[in-house]
Amino acid sequence: MKTDVQISQKAKLEPIYKIAEKMGLTENDIEIYGKYKAKINLDILKKEVKKDTKLILTTAITPTPAGEGKSTTSIGLGMALNKIGKKTVIALREPSLGPCFGMKGGATGGGYAQVVPMEDINLHFTGDIHAITAANNLLCSMIDNHIKWGNELKIDVNNILFKRAVDLNDRALREIVIALGGKANGIPREDSFLITVASEVMAILCLAENIFDLKEKLGEIVFAYDIEGNPLKAKQLKANGAMAALLKEAIKPNLVQTIENTPAIIHGGPFANIAHGCNSVVATKAAMQLGDYVVTEAGFAADLGAEKFLNIKCRKADLKPNCIVIVATVRALKMHGGIKKEDLNIRNLEALVKGMENLEKHIENMQKFNIPIVVAINEFPTDTKEELDLVEKICNDLGVEVALSQVWAKGGEGGIELANKVVNLIENKPSNFKPLYDLDITIQEKIEKICTEIYGADGVNYSKKALNKIKKFEELGYGKLPVCMAKTQNSISDKPELKGRPKGFKVDIADLNISAGAGFIVVLTGEILTMPGLPKKPAAENIDIDENGNIIGLF
Ligand code: ADP
Repeated sequence: MKTDVQISQKAKLEPIYKIAEKMGLTENDIEIYGKYKAKINLDILKKEVKKDTKLILTTAITPTPAGEGKSTTSIGLGMALNKIGKKTVIALREPSLGPCFGMKGGATGGGYAQVVPMEDINLHFTGDIHAITAANNLLCSMIDNHIKWGNELKIDVNNILFKRAVDLNDRALREIVIALGGKANGIPREDSFLITVASEVMAILCLAENIFDLKEKLGEIVFAYDIEGNPLKAKQLKANGAMAALLKEAIKPNLVQTIENTPAIIHGGPFANIAHGCNSVVATKAAMQLGDYVVTEAGFAADLGAEKFLNIKCRKADLKPNCIVIVATVRALKMHGGIKKEDLNIRNLEALVKGMENLEKHIENMQKFNIPIVVAINEFPTDTKEELDLVEKICNDLGVEVALSQVWAKGGEGGIELANKVVNLIENKPSNFKPLYDLDITIQEKIEKICTEIYGADGVNYSKKALNKIKKFEELGYGKLPVCMAKTQNSISDKPELKGRPKGFKVDIADLNISAGAGFIVVLTGEILTMPGLPKKPAAENIDIDENGNIIGLF
């Protein structure tokens, strides 16, 4: 069997200007980055807004080590929609180097449903994430520099909120001391790094409408409190202008293609467990301007990525999704039903039925947003017909549309059933999208609504620290912001060991952070790491470059 990278290297790519041309873009609308990548000029968003483009969100059941294939399905669905004559553009997130060298490997789909050139997209791409890292760290250096030169703003060195960033998994940087070595190096203090894709600058880039909006939002970042407890903003340090200057190219969406030459816009990549989890607003809007159908995805399962896509991104950007595709696999459902990874190749209908609880809960959750739903069963080579039929039957019994997706094995051809169901549903069932909560309710009410209605919790426990922060944020006027939950991706609850459909638990809220620039409040459930570590055998050990200059081992 060919590996993902082998399949992608065999693909017949078209020069990127041709892909752009097919979408109606002119030479002036794009900036070429080599033969197969381009940036799209944001001026295309100034044209009259196309109103009838259909927006499809791909999300999934709770991830397990068995794999779900959300990106694979999004890419395959985009290709299939094109095959049935719908002009489709795919909008995805940019992969972070952290997971790429850690556990997960790349994030460009798999099998015959991939975006290319996958080596470039996975490794640095057009440098956007580096630019974000630089902009982030510029603010950090300006904070410490300000303190060294007299600290006019009276920054409380024990209350600096803004952290340094690097886009790698590096646990040694979680807790550090900076400015050692004497007076010339500044004032020593404890600091920490987070992974760039968890940073507020990444979130801001993904929610900004243009470079000026980006600059303004960067200026609103609350980087510290002063010694009297007042919030201090990046604009008070005059940092946001230079930060925006560093991001002037990074804010432009990147155009690439699938292995079947379907246009794909890949831009921005916040994690969905510790950040808001979806590609940039400008990428989605550019895709909607250029296609009649747009397939986009949100990270991890529907309780995280989709909830935030709908409650944060769609609300802010005034997007109204027409359809939600929930990806499930027989293997992952069996794991939710209690089967170990090594036994997944054995047929087990009983475990499958039990594991379906997880899918059922995600279906119920997505129904709360009044958007039509299709379940996509992402078929693995080890699935049996009985198992696939059973998932289909249970979905039918639940009254939910369901389609078998074979895009991993067959490319767009394998997604035609899914594409037809999606189109049919969109044409016959209107979406009446409504966010889950109103922004006017209190921070606690927002948290409780998500925890009880989406996670299925009986209630919420707050730490004293969390309650104090809620009070403070409301006093500071941030009470009307949406909340961005930071929670384990491994369970619908906040307890990673609870599989399936957890019941009889309460969510523990440990702390809250303000992301005033991005425009949301981050709510931390338990110990959530914003800097991952590498596993004992990191994926980096397998990645190499061969004697012909080809990248190998990226799957
Ligand atoms: P997600 O977006 O849910 O993280 P991806 O689409 O990135 O998942 O897929 C993760 C991995 O699983 C990829 O290596 C991909 O090749 C593999 N994969 C996805 N779908 C299938 C499938 N149907 N059969 C075999 N492997 C698959």
